[in-house]
Amino acid sequence: IQNANPFKKLNDEIFVYVAKKQKEIDELKRLEQFRREFLADVSHELKTPIFAAQGFIHTLIDGAVDDEQVRDKFLSKAAKSLDGLDALVKDLVVLSQLEMGEVKMSFERIDFIQVIQEVFEQLEKSALAKGTSLLLKPPYSGNVWVKADPQRIKQVMINLVENAIKYGNENGRVVVSLEEDKKHILVFVRDNGPGIPPEHLSRIFERLYRVEKSRSKDRGGTGLGLAIVKHILNAHKTKITVMSKVEKGTTFKFKLDRIDS
Ligand code: ADP
Repeated sequence: IQNANPFKKLNDEIFVYVAKKQKEIDELKRLEQFRREFLADVSHELKTPIFAAQGFIHTLIDGAVDDEQVRDKFLSKAAKSLDGLDALVKDLVVLSQLEMGEVKMSFERIDFIQVIQEVFEQLEKSALAKGTSLLLKPPYSGNVWVKADPQRIKQVMINLVENAIKYGNENGRVVVSLEEDKKHILVFVRDNGPGIPPEHLSRIFERLYRVEKSRSKDRGGTGLGLAIVKHILNAHKTKITVMSKVEKGTTFKFKLDRIDS
């Protein structure tokens, strides 16, 4: 930043010097700092699963492969690390495209009930494994038309419902509910899990921020899911809100434009 050239060339003779305001300089410095920290954090996040997979594979090469039980255990651990790496890289690509404004949203008239049903179907297996019930309230039989990008809005719902299952209690409940008015629908994704302590609430939408790092990683989290949600909803010109009560649960809420059927 310090080296950025403040001179602009109008033509061969006239140069214009624009002194930046201190506020702008401070903001640029802050962004630069943020970028550096993010790069350092990302490198660390990438190295962790690579080192882990390397460790297991080298131990196998060094002889552990001869013990059948150890072999299977180490192979599945190495595979898990690489799956995590794969998820992280995919999320990083999506997030950076969203942040650079490279993702063109295609707004269409879509049935939000169908989106929810597809999301529930996709996550049925992980919900079942944890004994979590997935519920839509009220139980709609008809359609609710909204204006949204079909793939991206489904991604939003997947990330929110997946988190609700992942961080919720065993045998818990995840409820998606809708409230409609003339112009909008309000979408709520609620769980009855352990909740998020208030000091973390304002930070969970930041890239790579996790309330409990090790627990989140154990559950297959990349730390980017909510940052992706925030960006997609911003592109829909809407915001997401989170409310949480420790030991009671968490609710995420956002609004979408309705379209008359
Ligand atoms: P991750 O990939 O780690 O799940 P997210 O960006 O989706 O990352 O979420 C950020 C953090 O917010 C999570 O690591 C978790 O600590 C917390 N979190 C998100 N959703 C919930 C929820 N429904 N209940 C409790 N904690 C949550």
